[in-house]
Amino acid sequence: MNKKNFILKRLKPAFLFIGTSIFLFSSTCIGQENKSKSTAIWEPVPVVINPGNATTAPSDAIVLMNGTNMNEWESTKGGKAKWKLENGEMTVVKKSGSIRTKRSFGDCQLHVEWRSPAIVKDDSQDRGNSGIFLQERYEVQVLDSYDNKTYVNGQAGSIYKQYIPLVNACRRPGEWQAYDIIYKAPVFKDNGEMDKPAYITVIQNGVLIQNHVEILGNTAHSSAPSYKKHGTKEPISLQDHGSPVSYRNIWIREL
Ligand code: MG
Repeated sequence: MNKKNFILKRLKPAFLFIGTSIFLFSSTCIGQENKSKSTAIWEPVPVVINPGNATTAPSDAIVLMNGTNMNEWESTKGGKAKWKLENGEMTVVKKSGSIRTKRSFGDCQLHVEWRSPAIVKDDSQDRGNSGIFLQERYEVQVLDSYDNKTYVNGQAGSIYKQYIPLVNACRRPGEWQAYDIIYKAPVFKDNGEMDKPAYITVIQNGVLIQNHVEILGNTAHSSAPSYKKHGTKEPISLQDHGSPVSYRNIWIREL
């Protein structure tokens, strides 16, 4: 070993020590700097919840339908909900009327699973038609839109007659599908005029199909939508459109 190599070998541990010290010192300084910066927010700490899984509700949700009863529902005409409860699901009974939640809701996150009939009958708007009406006024269309041509602002996942879904994420008839809806209720002035419109985001089967669109007013079949003042909280209704559409696993988180 020559003299130069000998010196380098002896000094190597010293270099290592100095390098590590510089690294640790600078890391500490950076950490202190971050902690002192006002962009770090420490409170309020979000509440810890159990998020559930694909078939169960999060621990902080109100369960509106878990398959065992229809206690949270009534007819929109008042009185008992007359849909069929069987095999953990509730199914539209033709001409029994639409149903609604007994409780009322405003801003919310809503999870709904639905299934159009496996046996395909009819077409267009007569195939597996139902609907989820936020605050009993604003419809997210439920329809068998698997290989079923209809007007696009009335297909599954449309905000009926207002917004076409971004894509058609429908499963085959007879298969369960999920809507996850994030809804911001409208705000009204004292004189009844709309102050702030409602907004809605819809995810179907894990796919974004409505991206924070502004609701234009009450769902209307053949006229222009317009707002009419209503309470800050109103029920959610499910439509009887004459098709035996089934529902299960419905839960809501108030926001
Ligand atoms: Mg409908």
